[in-house]
Amino acid sequence: MNRITADYHLHSAVSPDCNTPMEESCEAAIALGLTELVFTEHMEFFSDNFKRYSIPYMQEYFDDLARCREKYAGKLSLKAGVEMGQGHRDREWEKTILDRFHFDFVIGSVHKMDNVDMGKMAFADEEEKLRITDQYLDYLWELVDTCDFDSLGHIDLVKRYAANHGLKVDLMDYPDRLRAILKRLAERGLALEINTSGIRQSPKEALPSVAILKMFKEVGGRYLTVGSDAHFAKDVAADFETARQMALEAGFRHIALYEDRKPILVPIDEE
Ligand SMILES: [Zn+2]
Ligand SMILES: [Zn+2]
Repeated sequence: MNRITADYHLHSAVSPDCNTPMEESCEAAIALGLTELVFTEHMEFFSDNFKRYSIPYMQEYFDDLARCREKYAGKLSLKAGVEMGQGHRDREWEKTILDRFHFDFVIGSVHKMDNVDMGKMAFADEEEKLRITDQYLDYLWELVDTCDFDSLGHIDLVKRYAANHGLKVDLMDYPDRLRAILKRLAERGLALEINTSGIRQSPKEALPSVAILKMFKEVGGRYLTVGSDAHFAKDVAADFETARQMALEAGFRHIALYEDRKPILVPIDEE
C-alpha cells in the first residue's frame, strides 16, 4: 500500500507560533514508524524591510537540527527546510538567507498581504472575502513566477481563514488565474504541496482539494510534496493516508522528497 513515511512540513519551537520542542515531534515520528521529517520553520518576508527575521533566528534552527540529527541518527532522517512567506516582498533578503544556509527543501507560501497576516484579517462580509481572495491570487502569482523555492505551500490557504469566519472560498471559482499559477509552477519544475492541516481545522478538507491537484496534473505538474503543517507532536503525519488517496485520485503515482533542493520521486501506488 506504500504509506507515506516522510512529513515535509512541520514546525518546532523555533517558529514564533509553535511551542513544541523538535525532540517531541521527532519522537512522535519514530513511534509512528516514519523515516524522515523536514522541520520547515517560518521565515516571513515583509515589504520595506519591515520586521526582518534575523540570521541568529535561522541559526537557532540549525543548532536544534544538528542536536536532533545526532540524537536520532539511524532512526530518523532530518532534512533542512524552511517555509518562506511571501519571499517576493524582499528578494534581496531571500537570496541572503538561501546563500547563507544550506537547505534541502524550501516551501514558498503566502501568509501575509501588505505585511498583515491573513489570520488577523476580519473577513467581515462577502465583499471583503472577495477582495482578500483577489489580492491573495495576485500574491500567489508573483511568488510562483519569481521566488526561489521548491514546493508551493497550502495553495488555497485563504479558504482556511474564510472558513474560520463561516465563509467559503474555492480557488476553482477562479479557473483562469488558478490554471496560470499551476502552469507556471509546472513549467518551473516546482512541486505543489498537499497540506493536511485543513482536514483537522475549519475547512475540514486538505489544502488544496483534489480538483486543484487534478488541474495541476493537467497542466503538466509532476511533483507533489506532503506535509502535516504540525505545530504539535500529535499532528505529525496526520491524515497522510487521505493525502495519498487524494494524490492517486488526481493521477499521481509518486510523491517527491528532496535533498540539496533536488526532487527524488518515491512511488505511492505499490502493493
Ligand atoms: Zn504556512
Ligand atoms: Zn507551516
